[in-house]
Amino acid sequence: MNFEDLKPIVEGLDPSKPLVMAGPCSAETEEQTLSTARQLAMGGIKIFRAGIWKPRTKPGGFEGIGKEGLAWLQRVREETGMLVATEVAMRAHVLDALEAGVDILWVGARTSANPFAVQEIADTLKEAGATDVAVLVKNPVNPDLELWIGALERLYNAGIRRLGAIHRGFSFYGKSIYRNPPQWHIPIELHRRIPHLPIVIDPSHMGGKRELISSLSQQALDMKFAGLMIESHCSPDDAWSDKNQQVTPEVLKVILGSLVHRNTVQ
Ligand code: PEP
Ligand code: MN
Repeated sequence: MNFEDLKPIVEGLDPSKPLVMAGPCSAETEEQTLSTARQLAMGGIKIFRAGIWKPRTKPGGFEGIGKEGLAWLQRVREETGMLVATEVAMRAHVLDALEAGVDILWVGARTSANPFAVQEIADTLKEAGATDVAVLVKNPVNPDLELWIGALERLYNAGIRRLGAIHRGFSFYGKSIYRNPPQWHIPIELHRRIPHLPIVIDPSHMGGKRELISSLSQQALDMKFAGLMIESHCSPDDAWSDKNQQVTPEVLKVILGSLVHRNTVQ
């Protein structure tokens, strides 16, 4: 499979600049979602991310606001003109997100490790005739390049052409400064295997700490990856999930402004 006829993830963005997606780990309340989105839009962000269904490691934590949050994403879209992106993990999520007009879907790291779930997502998109929606596939939690490529193939086979990958680092057991060590050789190998596939880097889940976002982002741009997905929250310390790795829209603007960017290859 050569993936040669892929289309841009979104139309109308300058292909010489990295694609930047930002927004909170989770949509928590309408106020938090809208306030974060407005600030990000003022800072020039064009794609807003927010988790509606959250795959938490253990029960008892905040598992996402669910369907109700899709209306907030619609408001973000209408008020700010940003495109909106959310995570889907099963058929019902896909159908609800499509109905709400979500522009970009992403498959999370726990889901891309599960071929049944990825196939269900792919089949649902095909059956719904929604093959023009953009889908980004996060690497599986475990460092398994073939599983990652397999997930991409399942979506490609279903007719998805606005396809991309998100590298968020790989889970491991032990001590590291990273929450999910980057193991850069794996996404580099993915790029070698599928040269047309845009790869977006997620320094937030990779580092797990807001202090690491800037250096990981610079590394990503130095390696000419296609874009960045960064978690940003209007009040990071109060976030209901992943609070240590989120930055305010204001800090994000400083980080993005300080990155040295050479043109991307993709
Ligand atoms: C997220 O993007 O908030 C998320 C849950 O990420 P991952 O699937 O990479 O753990
Ligand atoms: Mn998160």
